[in-house]
Formats: sequence, C-alpha cells, structure tokens
Amino acid sequence: MLQDQQYLRIPGPTPIPPSVQRAMAQPMIGHRGNETSELLRSIKPRLNKVFGTDQDVLIVTGSGTSGLEAAVVNAVKPLDEVLVIVTGAFGARFVAICEAYGIRVHKYEVEWGKAFDTHEIKEHLRNLPNVTAVFATYCETSTGVLNPIHELAAAVKEVSDALVIVDGVSCVGGVETRMDEWGIDILVTGSQKAFMLPAGLMFIAVSERAWDVIRSNPNRGFYLDLVKYRDDLAKDTTPFTPALSILFGLDQALDLMEKEGFENVYARHTLMKKMTRGAFEALEVPLLTNEEDASDTVTAVKPDDFDAEEFRKVIKKEFGLSVAGGQEHLKGKIFRIGHMGYCSPADVLQTLGMMEMGLIKTGKNIELGKGVAAAQRIYLEWGE
Ligand SMILES: *Cc1c(COP(=O)(O)O)cnc(C)c1O
Repeated sequence: MLQDQQYLRIPGPTPIPPSVQRAMAQPMIGHRGNETSELLRSIKPRLNKVFGTDQDVLIVTGSGTSGLEAAVVNAVKPLDEVLVIVTGAFGARFVAICEAYGIRVHKYEVEWGKAFDTHEIKEHLRNLPNVTAVFATYCETSTGVLNPIHELAAAVKEVSDALVIVDGVSCVGGVETRMDEWGIDILVTGSQKAFMLPAGLMFIAVSERAWDVIRSNPNRGFYLDLVKYRDDLAKDTTPFTPALSILFGLDQALDLMEKEGFENVYARHTLMKKMTRGAFEALEVPLLTNEEDASDTVTAVKPDDFDAEEFRKVIKKEFGLSVAGGQEHLKGKIFRIGHMGYCSPADVLQTLGMMEMGLIKTGKNIELGKGVAAAQRIYLEWGE
C-alpha cells in the first residue's frame, strides 16, 4: 500500500487543509503579546457568524468534553434538577458529567437512531417544574442524527424557565446554527470536527439569561470558570496559555469558510449527506436513520447481511480508508462515515468507490458502480 496516505472519514478528528496545516507550523509567539491579541480580534467576529450569536464565543484549550463539563459546572449547582435528552452516546455523556457533580438528573431516552420529538419533550417537562436546565445534543455523532435544536428552546420556554444547553461538537461549522434566534442558552463545540482543526480547542457561547445564572453561581470551579474567559476575551486575551498553534490554524480555517461562504459550506454538507445516503440506498444497504433525522455531517450504515467490523477492516487494509464503528450497544452493528469539514463531494465519490470494492471483498453481492452512480446523479441534479 502507498505509504503516508490515508483517507480519514471518521466523524472526528477530520482531515486538515494544507493551508491550515501550514498556518499551524508557524513559530511560537508570546501569548500575552500584541500578536495574540490581534489573532483573537481576527477570529472573534467569524466565530460569532458560525454560532449565530452576538455574544462573545469563548475559546478554551481542551477537547469538546471540556465544553460539556464547562456548561455543567458553570450553569448548574449540585442538587439542582436537570433534564438530559439522551439520543445516543453523547447525550449519555452529559448524564455522566452531571452525575459526577452530584446533580439530580432526569433522563429522557430516545431510541438510538431517532431524533427527539420536541412536542414530547415539552409535555414531559410540564411535569418537572424544578428543572433548571435542559441538555441536548445537536448532532448525535454515535447515530448520525441531527436533532431539531432549532425548535427546542422555544418549546422549553413555553413550559419552563430552564436553560437550554446544547452540545454542537460534531456539527457546528458544518450546519447552520442560529444560537440567538433559536434561543439556545449555552452552545458548545470543539475544534476537531467541522472546524477542520486538530483536537485541542473548545468554543462556547452563553446567552444573557445564562450569564445571570452563571454569575450567581459561587462554585464555578477554576480552570473552566467561564467568567474568567469572558472577562479576558473582552480584553483580547485568555486566562491561561491557549493552544496557540491551533489558534493560528483556526484563523486560517475561518478564512477558508468565509471565502467559500458560510451558506455554501452548509449546502456542501447537505449535498454530501444526500450523496452518501443515496449511494447506500441504491446498493440496498440499510441506513440507521431516516431522511428527516439524518445529520449532514455523519452517516450511520446498518448492514443486515454482512459484518460491519469485517468491512471496516477490509477498507482500512486495502485503501487506508477509516470509517468509525458503532458505540455501546451499536458496537459491531453499524459503521459511521464522517463527511464534514475538509471534505468535498469529490471526496465522497472516492470514498464510495472504495467502499463498493470493500463490500465486494467482504462478500456482499453488489453491482459495482451503482452507489457511485446514484451519488453522481444527486450531485448533477443538485442546485439545478
Ligand atoms: C466528539 C464529540 C464530543 C467531544 O469529544 P472530545 O473527545 O472530548 O473532543 C462531544 N460531543 C459530541 C456530539 C461529539 O461528537
């Protein structure tokens, strides 16, 4: 096999554009100097656009989970009651974090592979008058579901004063997000998914309403105390040494998104989802989610007549193509294809071509080219 070449199609980390890679190779600078302040000033307005908010988007060095924990430790107090909507492994992570802090958790579990129903959440919440926060996952990476976050906050507000806290790690930057308009109180994302960067930075924004709650919380911890990050970002600095190399990369990655046009970035992700799903439908290999619930950034495939793990091994060995397996009870039952960030329809066609050969080598009887052709037709019809 050709060395030093790989096709990374997992839902994060995702490939990094060459210009971002080069930006990250810049020599180190002082994190208290003017250059870093300039860098932050250049980054800030574009992060606002990606989040769809006028609030400052705070930049914290840590993986995505540090953002989930930051939301919990800042906005919720031990013994508070919260509602966590669990649509997969990442909803379950919010439960685990809350429980680690002694918070009383009401779980609302949805079958893995389906999106939550906003109306049902609202009715459920009517019977939970003491809940101070509702946690939800925008893209549930473990199942490839994009939850209807755009309608959640309005529904919650009809029946409750609870804050709406959203994990957007595997889609913000790849799908349209309007934090202010939709009424999201805290939105979290990370650098290694749709932002085309390595893991290491977490981005989080907070509504006015949530800042009131956070300010009145006396125990916000130390490293993840968001008030520190907010006060410092207002002065174009950070409380602790940021992952400067990734900040260089972030500035360039935002440049790339802005030049492509944010709307075009989102449309590209929708197209890649349609091409990927259309291919597997044509090949008659079942998908885990229905069309309406499917995420633009990751597709979960649930084979019924071949082994998902065997298939993953074959494509990795033949082509250096990596797709993700299932998590928890879906382990061994599904595989997940990431199509976000630095990924184009051309990459999708190449991935599908490799996967068709992988299917044959795994013993699945398909007509070669059928999935690719379906994806090509979807591409050609797109935007006509
Ligand atoms: C990747 C991911 C995270 C964060 O994981 P880290 O490994 O901590 O970066 C959180 N939520 C979702 C939905 C994710 O996909």
